[in-house]
Amino acid sequence: MKVTIDKNAGFCWGVVRTIDIAEGSLVDKSKVYCLGDVIHNTLEVERLNRLGLSTITVDEIPNLEKGSRVLIRAHGEPPSTYKLAAQYGVELVDATCPIVIKVQERVRKFVDKGFQVVIFGKKNHAEVVGINGVTGNTSIVVLNKEEALGSVDFTKPTVLFSQTTMDKQEFKEVAEALRQKLETLVIGSMEEEAVQYHAKDTICGQVSGREKKLQQFASENDIIIFTAGKKSSNGKVLFHISHDVNPRTYFAETKEDIDWNWFEGVETVGITGATSTPHWVMKDVKRLIEEKFGIEQYSL
Ligand code: SF4
Repeated sequence: MKVTIDKNAGFCWGVVRTIDIAEGSLVDKSKVYCLGDVIHNTLEVERLNRLGLSTITVDEIPNLEKGSRVLIRAHGEPPSTYKLAAQYGVELVDATCPIVIKVQERVRKFVDKGFQVVIFGKKNHAEVVGINGVTGNTSIVVLNKEEALGSVDFTKPTVLFSQTTMDKQEFKEVAEALRQKLETLVIGSMEEEAVQYHAKDTICGQVSGREKKLQQFASENDIIIFTAGKKSSNGKVLFHISHDVNPRTYFAETKEDIDWNWFEGVETVGITGATSTPHWVMKDVKRLIEEKFGIEQYSL
């Protein structure tokens, strides 16, 4: 049996940056608070907890001592969080991914021009909460084209954005459905001027660029062990991409989730994960499989 770790799996640079900032902020402070889990991976959260990082919610900011240090993770926060921190004298360490900051800036420009903002994403996902906050919580959050067609006001200039970790193909379907509906309305009413509409694909290249490489990796192995946190959006998207190519793709948040029945008749095992999966977790899984099957360990 051959066990291989996907060389394209693991932290995206935005998450690497966030973890670096988190660790850096703990150098001169024994306790730092983070708004929500620093990443969607329980094992990495536990590792950082041991270093002094504790997870809190934004509602707990008023209970913190003045001067406490609070980390904003890669997903970003709405403007109201910055105001609350200033009000209670809390020091913010902003580790928002620069790509998410850029999306927030672009959204703000459209809001200033009076556009109705539609976000293709998950309503309660932290990144969407942050982007929605930029619009004064007026944006329409949709998960598919049906929701978009049922909730958008087609008399208003409209711009569509995406949560950075969504599926590209599904974004295209939503964008196209809105465009077609607007065209039909223009033809139907014989209006001379169409309502302004823009679709901005803000899906992160670190996520979408991985699809093809993951499909290739999934097709090259008999089974795939997909390691990610259960809360990771990006993990769910990538898991399904792998599963579509190789139905013997199995999800394991930790090495304890591994079921040895998966390995029956298997010669090649691929280990991969989400952009929030630490490399050390995949190495642990590889080591465990190699020990179980008495495989001589090669380079990790
Ligand atoms: S997936 Fe992209 S947007 Fe999200 S944290 Fe990573 S680099 Fe930033």
